[in-house]
Amino acid sequence: MENKCEYKCVNCGKAAGALYKTYGPSVLKLTKCENCKGIVDKYLEYDPVIVMIDLVLMSKEAQRHIIYNTDFKLYWKLFIILIMLETFGVWRNDSLLNIVINTVCDIQNNNTVNTTYLNLSYKFDLPEPWRTDCRGWVHRENHDVDLFIWEKDFYIQCISTFTGIVVFISTVHILMSLMKICTVQSDVSITRVLKAFSLANMSLLFTLPMLVWGTADTPPETRAIHYLLVFLYSFVVFYNAFIVLYESPKILTLLVLAASSIAKYQATFHVTPFIRRLLS
Ligand SMILES: [Zn+2]
Repeated sequence: MENKCEYKCVNCGKAAGALYKTYGPSVLKLTKCENCKGIVDKYLEYDPVIVMIDLVLMSKEAQRHIIYNTDFKLYWKLFIILIMLETFGVWRNDSLLNIVINTVCDIQNNNTVNTTYLNLSYKFDLPEPWRTDCRGWVHRENHDVDLFIWEKDFYIQCISTFTGIVVFISTVHILMSLMKICTVQSDVSITRVLKAFSLANMSLLFTLPMLVWGTADTPPETRAIHYLLVFLYSFVVFYNAFIVLYESPKILTLLVLAASSIAKYQATFHVTPFIRRLLS
């Protein structure tokens, strides 16, 4: 349950007792922040569309408003829908992760309509456990379209993506909490972490144009550039969200975010072949 003292000033992040005071049935006055003297949460009077626009523009104030000063009860629905979207991209062989895997593992034609293999002059020389897992990402030659196999593969990919996300959130939370032991600051609840994650993960929606309008003729370079831009945007959004959430030094947040992202994609890369081996 939300505690009243957990409200925060959207400008400076200091805790606030109340967002507004009521004077009679129709008179509301927004509280001023004791620390920065600004209005604690100006977004209370804004239209949700404006809040959305500010979120897209990577505003930390709007993120604080959603994470601390609203109920945001639907975060878990958002969480599930975005896992589905991410899974869909990987399952279609159409995401930044697939482009990297196909290119590094030298998987030139993965029996799907989407070509996501970049023809680099450099060939990667991977150590053994990696090469085995690379082979696990190759789709078996299957020309008669067997819907059941594809459907099963969606569930496998879903578990794999979910594992990646769990690894990502746990790595961030554990590393950030370890750092907090050094500084004196309040704990961050797991509900808030999930809210911040779901909110920042909305940046994944920008992969939709390519997922919807990308065709078999779309060059892999175009896909790579699009997904790379979305990844960079998403990285900044997550960085802001974790600054808002943990209030740790910028450089530490950056390092933790980079390490957690690597851990996430590593996990997905190894889990998919693992489950496929288990089920075959
Ligand atoms: Zn303030």
